[in-house]
Amino acid sequence: MFDLTLGDARLTSVEEISGHRYAPDFLLPQVTPDIVARNASWMAPDLFDPARNLLAMVRQSNVIRTRHHTILIDTCVGDCKQRVVPTFHMLNSPWRSNLAAAGVHPEQVDFVMCTHLHVDHVGWNTQLRDGRWVPTFPNARYIFGRTEFNRWMVAHAEGQDSPDGPVFADSVLPVVEAGQALVVDDGAELSNGFHLEPTPGHSPGHVAFHLNSAGAHVVFCGDVMHHPLQVRAPDLSSRFCEDPTASARTRADFLARHADTDTIIAPAHFERGTLGRVRSASDGFHYDFLAGGSTRP
Ligand SMILES: [Zn+2]
Repeated sequence: MFDLTLGDARLTSVEEISGHRYAPDFLLPQVTPDIVARNASWMAPDLFDPARNLLAMVRQSNVIRTRHHTILIDTCVGDCKQRVVPTFHMLNSPWRSNLAAAGVHPEQVDFVMCTHLHVDHVGWNTQLRDGRWVPTFPNARYIFGRTEFNRWMVAHAEGQDSPDGPVFADSVLPVVEAGQALVVDDGAELSNGFHLEPTPGHSPGHVAFHLNSAGAHVVFCGDVMHHPLQVRAPDLSSRFCEDPTASARTRADFLARHADTDTIIAPAHFERGTLGRVRSASDGFHYDFLAGGSTRP
């Protein structure tokens, strides 16, 4: 978890679950036992459980509070939703109380931004009220990248939805019907120091959100990478990447672009406090966590 001020913005994580675990070769199908063994020392114990051979991930939203606005990035799986994956199905998670504990009331949220429209990034866009899905944040505009939005809108028009369940129908469409959706270009400049960057691969319209605030630069990069092991081995794409080759290309490019800068990286699923900086070395890239710890052994 994190709660800190960068520039003029306060950044706070709101967790749905931490310690979500996957076998390495389930999460990263191309990984080898040798790659895991070589990196075990810096990953254990919070990023990797050597005894059980499981990688750990967090599922969280990020709150950004500026002088003018409260912004929520990615909204996890959500409660009470019909989902295919048992660990996502009909959740009753502490997410809402964690949001309240962070001092955020749903009415205060001005913008909700989704890096992409997969099942674990849109859930709390809506909540169940009197048997209907309604926007959880009644005063917010919900910002969606055009490529990602159109892709699912077209699928919906053809009677399809996510393989994970009626994700678009229950977590995006009600926002559109409420008149709260704002569909923008994948590289749009927004006000107040925000802009989008297209980062396709994990999903066709995946975008990263950049915040520039009083000299601080933070990139909320969603699922460009799922686990810090991918900083060491950028060619490893996750099982959940729709185009693993494009995902690897985007990741390598992203790491090279931000390496050795002051840019703070905020991936959706990194444990150990999530935030960090990318550094280059003779053997590739390293990730130095702001909270302490690094991919350097
Ligand atoms: Zn995700």
